[in-house]
Amino acid sequence: MNPEKRRTVIAGNWKMNFTPAEATAFINEVKPLVAGKDNCDVIFCAPFVTIAAAQEAAKGSNIKIGAENVHFAEKGAYTGEVSAQMLTACGVEYVIIGHSERRQYFGETDETVNLRTKAALAAGMKVILCLGEVKDERLNGITNEIVSMQTKLDLLGVSAEQMKNVIIAYEPVWAIGTGLTATPEQAEETCAVIRATLASIYGEDVAESVTIQYGGSMNEKNAAELLAKPNVDGGLIGGASLVAEKFRAIVDAAQ
Ligand code: PEP
Repeated sequence: MNPEKRRTVIAGNWKMNFTPAEATAFINEVKPLVAGKDNCDVIFCAPFVTIAAAQEAAKGSNIKIGAENVHFAEKGAYTGEVSAQMLTACGVEYVIIGHSERRQYFGETDETVNLRTKAALAAGMKVILCLGEVKDERLNGITNEIVSMQTKLDLLGVSAEQMKNVIIAYEPVWAIGTGLTATPEQAEETCAVIRATLASIYGEDVAESVTIQYGGSMNEKNAAELLAKPNVDGGLIGGASLVAEKFRAIVDAAQ
């Protein structure tokens, strides 16, 4: 983390978990545990049908509720999708885009990730943009090229001004939901590559101001070591964001 230069952000990704009643109960449990922990932003990204209940439960707390995806069109014949306009109308400020599960299971590409990112930013949302290499790419020593290319493609047409509303989540795909975690050194090296790529596009000042999270089996045991790295500005947390005490420990590690 480097709190002098950029905001630390701890975000939970609930994935396809929690009914509205379960989300309410969870937020009520976690709210007092993270209250007053103001050295980081605390966000939970929820399934669409759970957002309203989570927002209601989070009212008056330091917890923000986001969505897990957004479509790039404003409206129209896109069955099953939700637009940025719909999300902002519901008071949703944050959205995850490009999660590896969307890329892996739902055919999302850097092109659709880029379209979704631009649509969300144009609607005034804040984007948590996920990218990262698969196992074979790491084993073949091409991680840096892959994340650099993803950064460039996913942000094509995004202005320096709009980068104020972009958080990048570096998520090595081999570490997501697997219990495997990048070492702090691997996380630091790759986050630094992403920052250098941002500098090549937007210049040093913008690059230094962008929050770059690590995601991939971050938990209550490894968070402190990962967050101690200067280019790791927070975490995107899957499994551990479903357990209040584990999530609290990660937020504590960011203080
Ligand atoms: C994620 O879903 O973004 C994630 C990092 O999951 P997990 O923490 O479970 O690996």
